[in-house]
Amino acid sequence: NAGVGSWPERRLRSSPESDAIWFDGTTTSHGVFAERVRRAAAALAGLGVQAGDRVAWTGGNHPSALETLYACGQLGAVWVPFNARLAVPEAEYVLAHSGSTVVVHGREHGRLADTLRDRLGDVRHWIAAEPPVDCGTDCLPYEDLLAGAAPQPRDEPVSLEDPCLIMYTSGTTGRPKGAVLTHGNMTWNAMNQLLGLNMASDERTLALAPLFHIGGLNGTVNSALLAGGCAVIVRRFDPAETLQVIEEQRVNSFFAVPTMLDAMSREPGFGTRDLSALRTIGAAGAAVPLPTLRTWLDRGVTMQQCYGMTEAAPGCTVLASADAVRKVGSAGKPVFFTDVRVLRPDGTEAVPDEVGEIVVQGPNVMAGYWNDPEQTAVALRDGWYHTGDAGSLDDEGFLYVRDRYKDMIISGGENVYPAEVESALLELDGVQEAAVIGVPDERWGEVGLAIVVPDPGAALDADDLRARLRDRLAAFKVPKHVELVDELPKTATGKVRKPDLRSRYLPTEE
Ligand code: AMP
Ligand code: MG
Repeated sequence: NAGVGSWPERRLRSSPESDAIWFDGTTTSHGVFAERVRRAAAALAGLGVQAGDRVAWTGGNHPSALETLYACGQLGAVWVPFNARLAVPEAEYVLAHSGSTVVVHGREHGRLADTLRDRLGDVRHWIAAEPPVDCGTDCLPYEDLLAGAAPQPRDEPVSLEDPCLIMYTSGTTGRPKGAVLTHGNMTWNAMNQLLGLNMASDERTLALAPLFHIGGLNGTVNSALLAGGCAVIVRRFDPAETLQVIEEQRVNSFFAVPTMLDAMSREPGFGTRDLSALRTIGAAGAAVPLPTLRTWLDRGVTMQQCYGMTEAAPGCTVLASADAVRKVGSAGKPVFFTDVRVLRPDGTEAVPDEVGEIVVQGPNVMAGYWNDPEQTAVALRDGWYHTGDAGSLDDEGFLYVRDRYKDMIISGGENVYPAEVESALLELDGVQEAAVIGVPDERWGEVGLAIVVPDPGAALDADDLRARLRDRLAAFKVPKHVELVDELPKTATGKVRKPDLRSRYLPTEE
């Protein structure tokens, strides 16, 4: 087994006594962790999971995420993490599209299991990762499954080309696409992150961002575990609690999105907690605002701005600590095994400082989208992944992410595609037309503004519209603002003119 499933086995061989996981006040060594992964693999196999099968995982951050990921890796099965905040129809889509046969879920998801149990015939087993188990009588408690399984090593053949996980990411088409990351993608990303963030075997990294997102999973966590370090897992992001855990657990690195860093810097504990163990923070998902960066620098913490995406597992560039101030605003240079270019619309390479589309090539770039040859062909062309992001490289090779060609809003680190929100709006009674744009927001970076044309005679109410949307969409996708209008500006061909809407609703830049 050359895949991710072999990592705990190799750690068991080389450093079984060192810390692997801290969670809920308990530390688990690499040796014990490896045994738990073996048990998880045996338990899944006992439920009929075979090579190639898909096993879904959702919930707040919890060791079961990593254990089932590695266990699937040992079986040659494919791990399918999905966002715990998805509305029921969205989760249903991911589970059906991936053809998952087992779902491991957090304590919040009893209701999800109950609702979907009868609708998803392919799902044979629902496993509750944590008590209280409130997902009905035919729901299996994870700990019991592990306790009843034998910790035997396995020898299923798994190669670096085999799929390791499918991670769903929303898209401009309105439906999420499942990025297939192979064992090789995972391995090379971990290498890139180790080198880019200077991680070592004494790493104590904080698993802060959601493990169902690629930044949370692979920003620092999997690379720290590969290196022999420890993942300090917190269930969910709470700024004050996070600062406390950083102090008490002597955390020396973590991955976060800028809105988290901003929220932490506004906590009273920010000035008083001992952050002296903290060596670096990998920040990505959006550009870190300069004041945030300075606030952390004043506390002696360097931030390494990174750029990446699900499709690249995710690391593409990283700004070295030494350049953090000199090259502020840049996302850094390509990570070690990966190449980044900026292309003009005609496909030729841009000159320094010229803005074009960022494209990425390397052993960390996905194999394609699950069961979606059309979108795969759009994304992967001539051996390069086309990001839909606009950027430029300076004469020293530092990347600056400038804008997005794709119509996407980044709200608190979650990507929101207007197309998806617009089609959900159009399904609501009383909505004739709708357009969604991103507007700046103090707390979330950006939030959605829906501009809605009601059906003739329909009396629409903004709060009611938002409430009805929440049945269909995760809360973070529901536009914070709603404007009701008589008509939308259109092009001659009938397309909504978003630039006109932006110039009308967005504050003008000085
Ligand atoms: P995701 O697949 O959810 O990780 O989202 C990836 C997208 O987030 C990228 O394609 C960019 O649009 C955006 N993004 C990631 N890192 C940065 C960054 N450093 N600066 C600006 N945008 C970023
Ligand atoms: Mg993101």
